Amino acid sequence: MITTDICIIGAGPVGLFAVFEAGLLKMRCHLVDALPQVGGQLSEIYPGKPIYDIPGYPEIKAQDLVDNLMKQIEPFNPTFSLGERVDGLSRLEDGGFLLHTSDNTEIQAKAVVIAGGLGCFEPRKPAITNLEKFEGKGVVYMVKDPEHFRDKKLIIAGGGDSALDWTIYLANLAKEVTLVHRNETFRGAPDSAEKVFELAKSGKINLLLNSNLQAIEGNGSLKSVSVINKQKEVQELEADYMIPLFGLSPKLGPIANWQLNIDKNAIEVDTFDYSTNVPGVYAIGDINTYPGKLKLILSGFHEAALMCQSAFKYVYPDQKLSFKYTTVNGVNTF
Ligand SMILES: Cc1cc2nc3c(=O)[nH]c(=O)nc-3n(C[C@H](O)[C@H](O)[C@H](O)COP(=O)(O)OP(=O)(O)OC[C@H]3O[C@@H](n4cnc5c(N)ncnc54)[C@H](O)[C@@H]3O)c2cc1C
Repeated sequence: MITTDICIIGAGPVGLFAVFEAGLLKMRCHLVDALPQVGGQLSEIYPGKPIYDIPGYPEIKAQDLVDNLMKQIEPFNPTFSLGERVDGLSRLEDGGFLLHTSDNTEIQAKAVVIAGGLGCFEPRKPAITNLEKFEGKGVVYMVKDPEHFRDKKLIIAGGGDSALDWTIYLANLAKEVTLVHRNETFRGAPDSAEKVFELAKSGKINLLLNSNLQAIEGNGSLKSVSVINKQKEVQELEADYMIPLFGLSPKLGPIANWQLNIDKNAIEVDTFDYSTNVPGVYAIGDINTYPGKLKLILSGFHEAALMCQSAFKYVYPDQKLSFKYTTVNGVNTF
């Protein structure tokens, strides 16, 4: 059981910055994100793109902003559960909350901050009839720990950056890697595509172009994957794991079931302190809605600062809050 002052759901830029604002007020944070890495949309969708509207940065690459945020919050020692979705939120008798995740992690927190952005990124899945039966038993949609695939036979499918990057990385680790792609060319970065073609040429991976996943077989766990090409020829390949990497699409997910007031997939908040209709639960960043809301990173940063002033009173009802500039007080760690 993890215990903390604030549990932040979502480790996008806004969830990360909330750790800093909470830290200034001496509140500890634990963050949970369904993705295996921090950074939310910035790391998942556009890591290499420059952002031009972060105050003080005329231009900054999305991944660099995430790295800077991680550096900025380091003094406050936040803890993380990554690659886990928060599925349940219930209130405890003392006014705090119990959260549980898809990996059965339990977190006890005095206050909850939902910084869930557009919601959980759900994997796009291949159209295979018995797919669900093998999920977690050989079929996985993200690589959390590459070591897991050491000396295994892998079928990776997809044509974007994730499929290319993981094919290149796992080629050195796995026993056998087959990349299946429905076209002849890749959507991912040209230099990654080139590397994949080279690996195929040198016999380090099997590359099946103009091909689709067709069926999977196994007895309790995955044993083989059938692949069909444009000429309708089918080949059955032995496999320990099948990793379809067809991209992720955001869905509000479990947040919709937590008795929060929701309007068009966003949580309604009071702009005084970004509190929701459930006392002790706040919503900041892209996940919230209010009149005039702008889904921008800087709006989320502002919301995080105001939210923490109110969360402090919820976490420490008996303590007085005195406002101090960081130039005066510095960043006092704990
Ligand atoms: C292509 C593109 C370009 C953009 N350019 C700009 C720009 O130039 N300037 C700008 O200000 N904004 C830009 N944006 C918008 C900006 O990315 C968002 O405003 C920002 O990401 C919001 O941050 P967030 O932390 O609120 O949410 P997100 O970045 O969406 O992060 C939310 C996180 O919550 C996690 N999550 C959700 N539900 C759960 C759950 N139940 N359990 C566990 N984890 C959960 C998700 O996995 C996700 O990682 C752009 C967006 C896109 C797509």
